[in-house]
Amino acid sequence: MTLEKSIYELSQEELKSFLASKDLSTDLSTTIFRNLYKNNKHEQPIGKKLLAVLEKSFNFDLPTIDTVSKSPDGTVKFLMGFNDGKSVETVLIPFHKRFTVCLSSQVGCAMKCSFCYTGTMGLSRHLKSSEIIGQYIVAANYLENVLGLKTMAPNIVFMGQGEPLHNADEVLNAINVMMEPLGLGMGPRQMTLSTAGYLPGIKKLNNFPKINIALSLHSPFNDIRKELIPINQHFPLEDIFEALDGLDLMKRQFIVYEYLLIDGLNDRLEDADKLEELLGERKAAINIIPFNPFPGSKYKRPSDEKVELFKEMLVERKLRTMIRTTKGSDILAACGQLKS
Ligand code: SAH
Repeated sequence: MTLEKSIYELSQEELKSFLASKDLSTDLSTTIFRNLYKNNKHEQPIGKKLLAVLEKSFNFDLPTIDTVSKSPDGTVKFLMGFNDGKSVETVLIPFHKRFTVCLSSQVGCAMKCSFCYTGTMGLSRHLKSSEIIGQYIVAANYLENVLGLKTMAPNIVFMGQGEPLHNADEVLNAINVMMEPLGLGMGPRQMTLSTAGYLPGIKKLNNFPKINIALSLHSPFNDIRKELIPINQHFPLEDIFEALDGLDLMKRQFIVYEYLLIDGLNDRLEDADKLEELLGERKAAINIIPFNPFPGSKYKRPSDEKVELFKEMLVERKLRTMIRTTKGSDILAACGQLKS
């Protein structure tokens, strides 16, 4: 029987309290953190006695790599397994001489977005914070030890399987632990959380460190948006924007609006006009994602010219706009193609 509680869900403060409760020096928390997260060669390994104490209370499980697929563009997709037999996909994406890790927050997803492959699975379960952190550790180790790439630590996007704000407490704990200075030492601006607009979670974002926030907008019209993202029925754009406007952003922080572009559906002139009305006055950056097809999908990807044209319409309307180039689509590792 493995223990329920994972060593990877503890902040350094929590580890200190645990050590104190066992009459051990709280200074040991530093050694333990460095060993768990940095594998820092200058540190003493965790002594046998200490390890025995820890192993009585915590499991040290990390996800297993069940399969690896590599795309010629450098994208690496992992199927990572947990000890209940469930698995998720985690993707390493090359980005400007560095990598970004796309982490999953749930096994499957409850949102059922009509354009998303993961949505066809339904929700199987939430991931624990230790399972979210575990994906990062395993992917970063693979990068360094298997691929031999000694690049900077990868950035993080919560854009894998699942709706991170539907599992907000575990995601928040994962973020806090990954920010521990003696652990992974991630900075808040190295992490981006993308949400489908799960309002109860957006309302919790002011309790989060100041990570980057992305909203999957996809349409400025509620009637079209609810076809794409069914939860828009309960959480319409007015309510989402009211909550987003209430967020305490940093001076130069923009909310990123992801805009899945589907041929003939949301790439029209009126969409551009309405986006201007909605985002013109806000601190916004738009990220156009051309639709990535998957087996059985009902939508069409617009031609490259149409994508460029839509971008131009937005730029003319003074909206900061980027087109997200698709990586890993040949191995079904691109946005919305993850299904374990
Ligand atoms: N649940 C979160 C994060 C996961 S999806 C969210 O909805 O934001 C990450 C991004 O990929 C989202 O913007 C999502 O809308 C987009 N996406 C999903 N399916 C896609 C597809 N088939 N093609 C392109 N992008 C897709």
